[in-house]
Amino acid sequence: MRNVVIIGSGPAGLTAAIYAGRANLQPLVIRGLEAGGQLTLTTKVENFPGFPNGVQGPELIDLMYKQATEFGAEFKEGNVTRADLSHRPFVIEVGEERFEARTLIIASGASAKLLGLESERKLLGHGVSTCATCDGYFFRGKEVVVVGGGDTAAEDSLFLTRYATQVSIIHRRDQLRASKIMQDRLRRNEKIKFIWNSVVMDILDAEKGEVTGVKLRNVKTGEETFQTCDGVFMGIGHSPNTALFRGQLAMDELGYLITHDGAKTSVSGVFAVGDVRDRVYRQAVTAAGSGCMAAIDAERFLEAEH
Ligand code: NAP
Repeated sequence: MRNVVIIGSGPAGLTAAIYAGRANLQPLVIRGLEAGGQLTLTTKVENFPGFPNGVQGPELIDLMYKQATEFGAEFKEGNVTRADLSHRPFVIEVGEERFEARTLIIASGASAKLLGLESERKLLGHGVSTCATCDGYFFRGKEVVVVGGGDTAAEDSLFLTRYATQVSIIHRRDQLRASKIMQDRLRRNEKIKFIWNSVVMDILDAEKGEVTGVKLRNVKTGEETFQTCDGVFMGIGHSPNTALFRGQLAMDELGYLITHDGAKTSVSGVFAVGDVRDRVYRQAVTAAGSGCMAAIDAERFLEAEH
């Protein structure tokens, strides 16, 4: 029987592990297929406090991991295949293995949606990015494209105009999904150009290991064109990794877990932190902060039982 099981090993899960470990709760952290979370997909992180010269995303995760193990956190590799939150202790299964938990901290994150192109996978972190806030700075004086027509794409595009000389929004329709106010801001910005009714067929140049442009197809005319650019930002949305908890925990209409009074979910003893419950900030530092909250909440919950 575990005092605390933490699902997820991004900044939220690892910070929860540091705090729970330091409170002598010997947490078990389950690291899934996307171990380390979205920070492992980025390069230099320049806005995490305490690193005036920046730090590589994977290195930051590794430092947090070491800090958690220092305080007695244990790690289990593998994806959670089933979670039963209908009674306590909660039951968490990783393949054939079964763990019982007095409290559970869900930090399973959200995964940025990708187009599914081979070239996109190869160039991720090398010109293809899923996070404008993280990577925009590297495109000073360069041309970038943003794929998507929702608020994420709009917000990312506006942010990128701080650095890039031109931001082309590639959208598969001729109308944006983004809120009216964001649309107005986009249209007022001279650096922003729209490429309507278009989908990305390929990102070049995977062979060279850098982005040189995108091959586009107009879905109305079938015409294929090439747009030169130095970076491609995916703004087609995120999906919270909450499928396992459907029907067990309160979620909003997009599947994000709903929390109240800190990190508490609709089930007593289950806490949720980081991007799995955050569709607004989505930053490493906010995820880490919420991980701390969950560990403190879990500790108090266990104390109250004694
Ligand atoms: P979203 O609203 O679902 O928009 C995703 C966009 O990507 C849509 O325009 C969609 O096209 C396009 N898209 C999806 N899959 C695609 C594909 N495979 N190929 C090409 N295009 C694709 O997602 P979001 O922008 O991340 O926003 C999610 C939620 O968070 C929304 O409720 C949004 O309002 C909110 N949000 C708010 C803020 C803010 O208020 N500051 C910022 C970010 C997000 P279609 O339009 O054709 O479906």
